[in-house]
Amino acid sequence: MKRIGVMTSGGDAPGMNACIRAVVRSGIYNGLEVIGIKRGYTGMIEGDFTQMDLRSVSNILQRGGTILKTSRCEEFLTREGRELAAKRLKEANIEGVILIGGDGTFRGGVKLASEFRVKVVGVPGTIDNDVYGTEFTIGYDTAVNTALDAIDKIRDTAASHDLVFFVEVMGRTAGFIALEAGVGGGAEEILIPETHTNINELANRLKEGIEKGKTSSIVVVAEGDETGDAVTIAKEVKRLVNINYRVTVLGHIQRGGTPTAKDRLLASRLGNAAVEALLNGKENIMVGEINQQITYTPLKETYLKKKLINKELVKLASILSI
Ligand code: ADP
Repeated sequence: MKRIGVMTSGGDAPGMNACIRAVVRSGIYNGLEVIGIKRGYTGMIEGDFTQMDLRSVSNILQRGGTILKTSRCEEFLTREGRELAAKRLKEANIEGVILIGGDGTFRGGVKLASEFRVKVVGVPGTIDNDVYGTEFTIGYDTAVNTALDAIDKIRDTAASHDLVFFVEVMGRTAGFIALEAGVGGGAEEILIPETHTNINELANRLKEGIEKGKTSSIVVVAEGDETGDAVTIAKEVKRLVNINYRVTVLGHIQRGGTPTAKDRLLASRLGNAAVEALLNGKENIMVGEINQQITYTPLKETYLKKKLINKELVKLASILSI
């Protein structure tokens, strides 16, 4: 293998740049040429490629976002689009591609591999942590800390005004960010898609909390929670028990920012592992990290199998918020 490609795709996540840097430097260290594919699958289809040298990734380790840019690409959902992408890779003599992204990116990668025999290796890069085969995804730790920082600030105001705050966090259909930021921030309630919420009981517990002397309460709501969005839930709780409340939707501030040490290290390790995987003939897999060991999971399993949340943490959250 002489030349490989690297691409970021789907939602951006802090640490993607650290991963690009690791891929480029590990690739060159191992005698490979590394080609940057711009704007995810859009750039792959258009042949928007750029040769990466050692200095092209200087000073990006600490920056959020992705220097290669990213996109959501409709055309790649069609076989014709993928055929064109495979043709472009072949024309550019790119023999293997490292895909940094989430489950959508991997779904596309699996098709590219099975239909056109492109060698792909996935690296989990998404703030949502909803990828099977790795304990954490790149960007997740930073997003949790961003949400936590916001919750801490909100707590000051909530306590000063005797308010109940409903804080909506990202995570798509998973509750990982909500659960960890909620436990870390001492949230009174954490609403996640993985557990069922009875809104009457929720309202009563919040009311009881106030009666027991709590000067503030924070309800962390995962955006994918089946009960509804934070505004809807807050209004329903108000209707049931008449509390004073505010709603904050954290939104895209959770996506960007300087990656934490943990994310930079994970990104560096996984970027290097992805290059080595390609060199060792592994393909159609995702590199991940579990118990500090590099793991290889068939790319298909990463989205077909469901990563479970930590049930002990759910229990702990309710014990510690009484
Ligand atoms: P993420 O990788 O963060 O989950 P998306 O779900 O937006 O982000 O996926 C990124 C891109 O991957 C999409 O814009 C599309 O081009 C491609 N993709 C997603 N799902 C599929 C699929 N089922 N088949 C082919 N390509 C897909």
